[in-house]
Amino acid sequence: MTTKHRTRFWLYMATAMILANALPASAIDEATALAASAPDAVAAATIMAGAEENLPHGESAQPVRRYRSEVERVWFETEGGTAARGARAKVVAMSMGMEDVDSAARALVAEGGTPDEALANAKLAARLAPNLPIARAGLARELWRQGSYGEAAEQAVAGVGAIFRNFEAAAWLFGSLLVMIAVVLTVAPLVFIVSVAVSVYARASHDLGDLFTKAMPSFSRAALLGALLLIPLALGEGIMGLMLALFGLAFLYGDARHRIALTLAVVLLVVGLYPVAYTASTVLIALDSDPVAAATLAVVQGVESERDIALLEEASETEFLAEHILAVRERRQGHVETAIERYAALVESHPRNAEVLTNYANLLFSNGDDKDAVEYYERSAALIDSPRLMFNLSQANARLFKIEEFEAALRSAQAIDADAVAELSRVGDAEFVADLAFPLTTLGTRLLTTARANRMSNVAIDGLMPGWLGARWMNLAGSFALIAIGAIMLRGRFDRASSCTRCGKRICGRCDGTVWNSETCNPCYHLFHRPETTDATLRVTRLSELQKRDSRLGHVMTIASLLVPGAAGLFARRPDLAFSGILFCGFAAVFLGWHDGIVPDPLAVGNAGALAFITAGSLSAIAYLVVVGRGLMIRRSL
Ligand SMILES: [Zn+2]
Ligand SMILES: [Zn+2]
Repeated sequence: MTTKHRTRFWLYMATAMILANALPASAIDEATALAASAPDAVAAATIMAGAEENLPHGESAQPVRRYRSEVERVWFETEGGTAARGARAKVVAMSMGMEDVDSAARALVAEGGTPDEALANAKLAARLAPNLPIARAGLARELWRQGSYGEAAEQAVAGVGAIFRNFEAAAWLFGSLLVMIAVVLTVAPLVFIVSVAVSVYARASHDLGDLFTKAMPSFSRAALLGALLLIPLALGEGIMGLMLALFGLAFLYGDARHRIALTLAVVLLVVGLYPVAYTASTVLIALDSDPVAAATLAVVQGVESERDIALLEEASETEFLAEHILAVRERRQGHVETAIERYAALVESHPRNAEVLTNYANLLFSNGDDKDAVEYYERSAALIDSPRLMFNLSQANARLFKIEEFEAALRSAQAIDADAVAELSRVGDAEFVADLAFPLTTLGTRLLTTARANRMSNVAIDGLMPGWLGARWMNLAGSFALIAIGAIMLRGRFDRASSCTRCGKRICGRCDGTVWNSETCNPCYHLFHRPETTDATLRVTRLSELQKRDSRLGHVMTIASLLVPGAAGLFARRPDLAFSGILFCGFAAVFLGWHDGIVPDPLAVGNAGALAFITAGSLSAIAYLVVVGRGLMIRRSL
């Protein structure tokens, strides 16, 4: 966990605890202590420190608080139970252009209580923050406990869907997912290349030995080939250098199916090491590589620290993003005068920004300046189609008693999105207007762009390929291509040893007298194809020996097929099955083993993430078992 992640974690915890309904005094002390223990979490502590000017006189006996947003103030000051507070907080959040009241929703999810209370809290949390996966997952859990399995499944699916609409959650999910895919795409092809190379090693080392003397013992031949394969490693090309040599060996001795599977493996290896691994590191460091954008996101989520604000103040002199979010923040804190000042400056410098124009108009409307508000709404309406904007315009026209304009604006709002307008109308308040949401997509794009420029070096590439091979992706891809072409050209140039499919004996055109074909040795040829040339007694003995060998080997192969990924496919002489088995086994292992993600969940995803990974892992495991079963069946029928 980086300092930034740690700080954010404590901030969430402190906010969650402070917002939690009917908090005992000891818990408040604990939250303050937690906040103080994290250097940045001063904001949480200041909630407890200051005095709130607007506090009604009758409540002066209560502990004084300074709220960080209007939503927080409403949450604490609304009379009645959690439901009333939640409903009021939701309305204020809508007026501030906040899609989700994340902190309150997190507090509700953490609250618990009796089963009925927990369900009510979870329902409210999902309403407060429909795009927060952890809120959906919490509701799914409570529904499941109450036995509403269908509704629970619906919410679980909605929770997984919400991951895509929440920047932090999406960054966590895709960052983790891409790292896992990169790991599998790197490891599985290497395992496959090694297994094919091992399966042809004995034959290749025999041929190499024949170059020197036919009398060379097998172990010397094996050592000689080993020394040859280790040359690239010795030249400083690392593990990948050795892999390149093993790939050449496998390509030289494998049949057409092996060569196709090996080519596919190398393509996936290069893809896994370069685009996938690079994208993964970009996504994972996105929040840490652009402090201004990260501080902006913190304000959007209501978890900003004083350091974030200082950073934004400094950046606001030159950057629109910082200037914009600081104006949004003033509005969210209920500082109407300062918010109007900041927005007026933004309208001056960015006269064609629809969010700025609409939200400025909302401030003017709240201040009673209806005519100016209508003017800015109309300027904004010329730029975008938004149900919120048209609803706001209709409210301003209503207050000016311009009935025709009011009806026209409301009709066009309904034409764009009737459901959204219905939700806004339900508030039933003539003073209510809703801000446009802060453009998170732009923020996400900016975070990823900065991260791409700053991304760290690729650990896998540094570790596997310290030399020339790892310098550029073309070096690696080009080397594999050259080795493959070289192996194909070499294939016709010499007699390759093979092994007898009946008895497993090596067949070599140089050492053996007569060679019938590459699949059957001389004794087996006579035994099976020319039985009249063999002695009847010897024949029976030899057949029974072969049968014993078959059944003994069959058991060993079955056990190996079940234990070693890819073995089933290789024994069945189906390298495609071997490679897909290794891939599925790899995916099952990473998805199930890392079902909580690669980096800690930013308290946004909750069980929804684990559910997604466990589902993907289980499907991969099933696919792996199918591939193993298929391999076993094919080998039986050989
Ligand atoms: Zn044989
Ligand atoms: Zn030989």
